[in-house]
Amino acid sequence: MKKIIYLLAVLLFAAACKQKQEPATTGKQTAEKPKNIILMIGDGIGISQLYAAYKVKNDNTAMARCKFVGLVNTSSADELITDSAAAGTAMATGKKTNNGHIGVLPSGEKLETILEIAEQHGKASGLVATSAITHATPASFIAHHPSRHEYEALAMDFLETEVDVFFGGGKAHFGAREDGLNLLDSLQNKGYNLIYNYEEINHARGPLIAGLFGEKHLPKHLEGRGDYLDKASMKAIEVLDQDEDGFFLMIESSQIDWGGHDNNQKYVVDETVELDNLVEKVLDFAEKNGETLVVITSDHETGGFTVVDGTLKGDSLVGHFSTGHHTPVFVPLFAYGPGAEDFSGLYENTAIFDKMVHAFGFGE
Ligand code: MG
Ligand code: ZN
Repeated sequence: MKKIIYLLAVLLFAAACKQKQEPATTGKQTAEKPKNIILMIGDGIGISQLYAAYKVKNDNTAMARCKFVGLVNTSSADELITDSAAAGTAMATGKKTNNGHIGVLPSGEKLETILEIAEQHGKASGLVATSAITHATPASFIAHHPSRHEYEALAMDFLETEVDVFFGGGKAHFGAREDGLNLLDSLQNKGYNLIYNYEEINHARGPLIAGLFGEKHLPKHLEGRGDYLDKASMKAIEVLDQDEDGFFLMIESSQIDWGGHDNNQKYVVDETVELDNLVEKVLDFAEKNGETLVVITSDHETGGFTVVDGTLKGDSLVGHFSTGHHTPVFVPLFAYGPGAEDFSGLYENTAIFDKMVHAFGFGE
């Protein structure tokens, strides 16, 4: 009898060990982590902006390919209604700060950004915007300053990081500065391939590219910018994807917000449709690549936009703006690829950083 009990105990112990070991040996968790993250921000997109674009696209949005959807609270450290600096900083660093602050706490203490952390882990990184690259949203991922308006100071920080590719406006903040410094020369000395015309994007060679396509901001999509956002984003992906350690890329459709401030429905909807068409291409890349997490969201809603009339077919949509400023309502978030399941739910904008860091597996 004693022998049988002993045998049973040994068998049970062996079974317990086997159970314990199994999850650890499958290695499933590491395989499910993305090598690359592409964060796409539509500045000023709320549910209604997205809905209007969806109706214009015949009841279609590329974001429908994302099976994981979230809602994000955007308030800043000091205001119910955030600006793009505090919201960008929240997503880039995981910390709430005051409106107007870029990559720093209200105390002025510098915060590490997801782009900088990715660089420390050997990944490549990039920024693409349809505003000046020194404007609040892209600057939040690379720069550190208590004022979003100090463009020359923000431009200096592009030389402090190892960012590989950046495309946007803001050439004047690098090359026609009040302090007389020529940061275009400095970028060239650092090895960046500098380009200033949209036509040069397709032929530009990495690994380091700085594309500055306007002294300050870029024109509207339909008034001179053409397919810049598409070309710049796909070039950035092509170049960054050469890094075997993976990459972090932030792409911003910056001007949806400006259409909202102008209460210009056509401007808002056209820029949102343009972004959605790019989402389709980015998701195609991610689908093929298999190791890329794509997160599409907004920093805040602009204009208090609602759709108040129209036809079932989606023509004659009548929009209504209730303010010329931002509003504090939840913004939508869509996630696709390895790690996307973590983005379901309702959470703070700071959690976007936490979830991206977790997805990459940093600090684990
Ligand atoms: Mg912006
Ligand atoms: Zn705004």
